[in-house]
Amino acid sequence: MFSYRHAFHAGNHADVLKHTVLIAILRHLTDKDTPLSVIDTHAGAGLYRLDGDYASTSGEAHEGVLRLFLKPNLEQALSMNGSSGPEAVAPALQDYLDLVRSFNTSGQARVYPGSPFVIHQLLRAQDKLKLFELHPTDSRALAGNIAQLEAGRQIAVLAEDGFEGLKKFLPPPARRALVLCDPSYEMKTDYARVLAMATDALKRFATGTYVVWYPVIPRPEAHDLPRRLKTIASKAGKGWLHATLTVKSGKPALATDKVNSGEKAKRPGLTASGMFIVNPPFSLKPALTAALPQLVTLLGQDDQARFTLESAG
Ligand code: SAM
Repeated sequence: MFSYRHAFHAGNHADVLKHTVLIAILRHLTDKDTPLSVIDTHAGAGLYRLDGDYASTSGEAHEGVLRLFLKPNLEQALSMNGSSGPEAVAPALQDYLDLVRSFNTSGQARVYPGSPFVIHQLLRAQDKLKLFELHPTDSRALAGNIAQLEAGRQIAVLAEDGFEGLKKFLPPPARRALVLCDPSYEMKTDYARVLAMATDALKRFATGTYVVWYPVIPRPEAHDLPRRLKTIASKAGKGWLHATLTVKSGKPALATDKVNSGEKAKRPGLTASGMFIVNPPFSLKPALTAALPQLVTLLGQDDQARFTLESAG
């Protein structure tokens, strides 16, 4: 069984990118009255403690959401971006911060909302949410967290394989759907399964918005994933958008005074991630054009910090 637990990673820089993009897409899709089906194929536990053991052990949220929360004045921090005065926070980033803050009304950052709760915040009465989570512990935690929302039949939690399970919900009844596919890539086969899922989903429902998160790591499958997704989208005649965020160098770091000491260099952990969207709403590119440079300024840790943003169609 899997050992991946998202609790160690909740609120890291990859979650900041993923959830900022997710919120921007949902804002657009929920502008129209027609019901929307949202399917989260890899949902996780739904809610995470930022002050609990898991988060403290990994410290990853300190390189992500907490870095944003603990800055006393984001506008001031952004002014170091070369602009003359304080720079307004980009609307997509502000939206993300407001949503996370709504879970932490005491002012202390204690709770991090995972994708199920991020999505739920934006759902309207007419929308439906399907959540897949295969890990037995996280699936139970998710079911418990969702039960507290008393959302009834609006939200379904399924302890099933999300890649396979998606098929039964496409096409959606009102012919509007957003699919988030956010695997842990713990198994190398996840990369091929994402590609197979995208190909199959576009056949079942060509106009859905499909959102894939992936880690930017030195592994051929990870490197090839966006290139292959571009091919799948282009062959289906669909537009796409691809965004990446790098927060620091991927090279193992060793303090200069320890270079010759024989001490092992510290691995930097995940330094970059990407989001690939098929059929992105037209408002997403301008939203990210404003937000991504700010994320680099606020989350970047060295001169390798950067973003990329490309699109077609
Ligand atoms: N989407 C979540 C969020 O943004 O808060 C995080 C999800 S985490 C990266 C990936 C999750 O997928 C893990 O909780 C893992 O247990 C689960 N998982 C792994 N393989 C799965 C599968 N085939 N179907 C459904 N869930 C799976």
